[in-house]
Amino acid sequence: MRGMAVALLAVVISVVPCFAGPFPIYVTVVMHTEDPPTNPDFTRDRDTYLRWRDALVEFAELLHRYGAAFDYQCEWTFLAAAAMYDKGDVTANSEGLNVLKYLHDVLGVSIDPHAHERIYNYADVAELIRRTGVEPSQVVGGFLYWPPDNRQNWERFREPLQGRMFPEATWTGRILWGAGTAGHKGPDLFASGVWRPKDRYHFITHDPESPLIYIGSWRRTTMRAGGLFELVELARRGELDPQGMYTVSIFVAHGVVVRGGEEFLAKFTDAVLEPVGELVEEGLVRWATLPEIARIWVEEHGEHPTIYIPADQRELIRSLFREG
Ligand SMILES: [Zn+2]
Repeated sequence: MRGMAVALLAVVISVVPCFAGPFPIYVTVVMHTEDPPTNPDFTRDRDTYLRWRDALVEFAELLHRYGAAFDYQCEWTFLAAAAMYDKGDVTANSEGLNVLKYLHDVLGVSIDPHAHERIYNYADVAELIRRTGVEPSQVVGGFLYWPPDNRQNWERFREPLQGRMFPEATWTGRILWGAGTAGHKGPDLFASGVWRPKDRYHFITHDPESPLIYIGSWRRTTMRAGGLFELVELARRGELDPQGMYTVSIFVAHGVVVRGGEEFLAKFTDAVLEPVGELVEEGLVRWATLPEIARIWVEEHGEHPTIYIPADQRELIRSLFREG
């Protein structure tokens, strides 16, 4: 019996890949659909809405075939248009479901609110998601982190948020994603990792008592897989914390998929989905949506914080926030 146990142990040891350290790196694809004027007002233009809708369905199905995790982060007009137009023949390519329900229920996509909060705030956008029959995630899909005293004030997501357009609606955020600056004109944060930002003046300080979890996006690029290959290389060279939990978001603008059509999908498959799939096979990468990443951090990593700022912006970002 003991001999058998030893033999089994030998087998187990031989099949466990011989890398230690910060693997797997957790990766998701994040898409934004914007409010006007960045994207069209879909409620006023059915044909445009249908074109964007078809592109979204095709992209989500492609990701699903590759087993890729997908966080779809949507501003208010596309959601309002889905409620207006997703009836009858329109739903023929989505199993008779509206597009949000199809993505969420059939393809396993996390539906996260995204709001610039010019008119509709996060609770309003979450309410529009709910009205499509989908429970919105608790991800704040993009927010202003710099300067600390900005018009949005992310600290208000610590409490349940009341709608502005729908005052009876409330929504509670739990996970912050996409620390940015107005118009992306300042130093957007390209850190990887997961932590609880202490407060708006100490964003890159972990505070275990802070209610909100931040998930770092790393580079957010599209065709370079959000900088994933670079991060894998840093990990292989032993430059990352073996106890750390590292994260990457591959950002894809909805408009880029619409304009790029089949050519975009083919390029994205070659440059991102195929090579990332190989890293997944090797056990170096794991696809996980943002809510899944938060769950893994809490349940499997004991909330051990990782705050890894890329070398080229480390000094700048550290100069923006106070220590301690
Ligand atoms: Zn946006």
